[in-house]
Amino acid sequence: MIKAKKKFGQNFLKDESIKKKIIQSMPNDDKLVVEIGPGLGDLTKELLCASKRVVAFEIDLELCGYLQKIFKTEIQSGQFQLICSDVLEVWKNTSLRDEEYHLIANLPYYVATNIILKALDDNKCRSILVMIQKEVAVKFSAKSGEKTFSALSILANTIAKSQILFDVGSSCFDPPPKVTSSVLKLEKFSDFLAKDLFESTHEVERFKAFLKIAFRQPRKLLIKNLQQNYQKETLTDLFGTLDIETKARPHQLKISDYHLLFKNLNK
Ligand code: SAM
Repeated sequence: MIKAKKKFGQNFLKDESIKKKIIQSMPNDDKLVVEIGPGLGDLTKELLCASKRVVAFEIDLELCGYLQKIFKTEIQSGQFQLICSDVLEVWKNTSLRDEEYHLIANLPYYVATNIILKALDDNKCRSILVMIQKEVAVKFSAKSGEKTFSALSILANTIAKSQILFDVGSSCFDPPPKVTSSVLKLEKFSDFLAKDLFESTHEVERFKAFLKIAFRQPRKLLIKNLQQNYQKETLTDLFGTLDIETKARPHQLKISDYHLLFKNLNK
């Protein structure tokens, strides 16, 4: 009997109907599926039944031994590849795979934000379908004007179409987590880098840094946050030209306003 380890964020999904709903929400193509943290293999089994090629990364060596046994046939046939290591170590400065893939996972909550940010950066990753803490899912999917609209929402919605598909109560897991979970879907735009906004991935990094400045103090006026790095006159002129209220708070702007501000301030 394998015991769940808190340090690896182990909450195993036990509810059959939720597993089915995740499978039904998957993109409908033949691309490779990458699963992070297969755990006891419950979701993996469903993915393999849906005849997907799956590569999974599992940090817990005890679970790895168990998975190698129960998926012996699928590993031998090549349908399933299990990589026993910390996915964030493998992901350093490189794509996770050489071919395009979809990320589908019930993520360990302690590294969920990091993993989603890595997947958004990874050009080989075409979509992300993940179960995470509801509070984090709300941040990634928030729309302009909502209180939870943040740098994460702008970044995610610049690169992908993001939406929360459904919530999942803690009783669906063993052991039950202390929080409600949500299934978040991020479908990447195919032409995002070509959209004349970012000419290189280096520029995406600069956009992230810019958003950090804009949301430094989220409840303050946006112009005040930006004044820490840009001249007041430049900002007042630019806000006027772009028809942006100088009294606006960071969460009140549209995503396209942020794109325009970034372009003009970084000319
Ligand atoms: N997929 C299983 C399920 O739905 O029941 C388990 C999900 S559990 C929330 C998270 C899984 O991620 C655990 O198996 C844990 O050991 C694994 N994990 C945690 N940190 C990891 C990391 N950095 N790299 C790879 N796997 C990790």
